[in-house]
Amino acid sequence: MLRKTNSDIAAAENSLARLGRSLAGSHTAATRLRLWSEFIRLRDGCRCVDCHSTRRVSAHHICRKSFLPEAIFHTGNGITLCRDCHREVHGGFNGRPDLGQPMDAQGGEKIDTMERLFGALCEDARDRGILRDDFYFLSDSVLARFKMFQGFDPWTPFPGTRIEQAFLIWRQAPRGMVQALVRAMGFEMLAGPIPPGNGVGLSG
Ligand SMILES: [Zn+2]
Ligand SMILES: [Zn+2]
Repeated sequence: MLRKTNSDIAAAENSLARLGRSLAGSHTAATRLRLWSEFIRLRDGCRCVDCHSTRRVSAHHICRKSFLPEAIFHTGNGITLCRDCHREVHGGFNGRPDLGQPMDAQGGEKIDTMERLFGALCEDARDRGILRDDFYFLSDSVLARFKMFQGFDPWTPFPGTRIEQAFLIWRQAPRGMVQALVRAMGFEMLAGPIPPGNGVGLSG
């Protein structure tokens, strides 16, 4: 795996600054999305984070807009995928690929897919030495919502950078380990997940 060079990092940082100015200004959502997408691809080295193909890559929202609108321009919610991997992610449970369909078109957000993509981003960021919160940003509010979706108290602390926290929150399989970790920090997990839309007084 190639480490990012200084000029690669500078290009990504410049792109991130353009996105920041756009978000602070009066640009349209379409312009902001274009800049978000440009940054995600530059940060990921213009290659698919999943299979490393450089052919027909585009930026994918890990949490779709209708599921979590506030995360639409968060850099930690984007991953570069090639056309094949992108189709697979949007495939739905019947396996019929349709990029126009939301991820849960066949019912239910695909937790395993979210876990896998957040995990792939963490690994890629570590491998290339760019694991930084501005390159992989998720707000406190978004992380709190992830926790509620997964049945944690929204104030439960998780270790690591923001993207690492997202991966730990979505990781379902070693639930016992997560539970032990949470208990060791003096917190209790809730009995079951709180379904999306059952807002527990968080803003945004
Ligand atoms: Zn791919
Ligand atoms: Zn997508």
